Amino acid sequence: MDAGFFRAWVTEIAAVVQTQRDHLTQLDAAIGDADHGINLSRGFGAVEAALAQAGTPTPGSVLILTGATLISKVGGASGPLYGTAFRQAGKALGDGPEVDLPALAGALEAALSGVQKLGAANEGEKTMVDALAPATSALSRAVAAGASPAEAFSALAAAADAGAQATISMQALKGRASYLGPRSVGHEDPGAASTALILHALRDVALRQAR
Ligand code: ADP
Ligand code: MG
Repeated sequence: MDAGFFRAWVTEIAAVVQTQRDHLTQLDAAIGDADHGINLSRGFGAVEAALAQAGTPTPGSVLILTGATLISKVGGASGPLYGTAFRQAGKALGDGPEVDLPALAGALEAALSGVQKLGAANEGEKTMVDALAPATSALSRAVAAGASPAEAFSALAAAADAGAQATISMQALKGRASYLGPRSVGHEDPGAASTALILHALRDVALRQAR
């Protein structure tokens, strides 16, 4: 996977958060302040513009610019959290022109640990961590078991989906939704839903390239 692959991933994310903008915002309306879809579509729009301006010759540089742009352009909790995730993933990838599946799995581990360091959320607290953590472990497990890229990316996306769905029955203990206490139960967490979209975009780009 080269820089073009990672730019294609980010472009796919920008398209998906644009089409799912109202859905994400509705999820946030139920347990937050109805801005999650707006935040992400603005943020990834800015990322697209930044990538068109600056040279990003390596996978790491694509993800670092993505993260830095999200941090500077997105208000709300999700901007710094996603920004940190992409920056840490980019740093973990280093300066090489190509990355393999184990390196990408390591980068997602770094993203997760950056999110958890910044937001202090553990699994079960109804945040993006509930999609990112199981997806990251599913990818790492698949890689360790010698799965094909198609199998590994499908396991990643399926685990993210299941993780996002599992937030419905959780009570929010972190972020704005935690102010609702038990009334946060019964709604999917918007950040977990967007994490699943972001990881689906990764799978879709990978499967498309493999064809
Ligand atoms: P805000 O809550 O500031 O309006 P957004 O609506 O863009 O920001 O993002 C809300 C999402 O951010 C939540 O659904 C949740 O997944 C995520 N989030 C909030 N706080 C944390 C945290 N401490 N750790 C991880 N994720 C968090
Ligand atoms: Mg919000």
